[in-house]
Amino acid sequence: MNIQSNAVVSFHYRMSDIEGNELEDSHSSDPILYLHGKRSMLPGLEEAFEGKAAGDAFEVIVPPEKGYGERTEDSTQRVPKKHVLTKGRLAPGMTVQLNTDKGVREVVLLKIGLKSVDVDSNHPLAGKTLNFSVEIVDVREATATELAHGHAHGAGGHQH
Ligand code: ZN
Repeated sequence: MNIQSNAVVSFHYRMSDIEGNELEDSHSSDPILYLHGKRSMLPGLEEAFEGKAAGDAFEVIVPPEKGYGERTEDSTQRVPKKHVLTKGRLAPGMTVQLNTDKGVREVVLLKIGLKSVDVDSNHPLAGKTLNFSVEIVDVREATATELAHGHAHGAGGHQH
């Protein structure tokens, strides 16, 4: 089947920035699994995936507005250190997981104090145009349970 709303898609990707620096590669683990049409994937990827089928391999250029958004200036925030979920030694410039009232977000550490840290609340990939090299591994119909939950189940997807 071709990718359409309520298809469960699994795919591998390599992501690089516009200068060609590789940023992520999914090939060392299970393919990424998601339920198409639920806005759970970057908008630029969901658009490009529409109509594709298992075995298709292609490149997608994702601009910030269809990726992780534009950077906003003055987005420095001081937060309690205990909200940083990343374990181990913290250093400026590190990307860490932060517990916020909107859920867990990735932020970049700017300054580390005794009890608080300053973070740049922009997503680390905000403002970047990204190049994805994608291979569609599998496309199948979602199960009734997946449709009810609004996400895909299984290796690479949602685990309960
Ligand atoms: Zn579920």
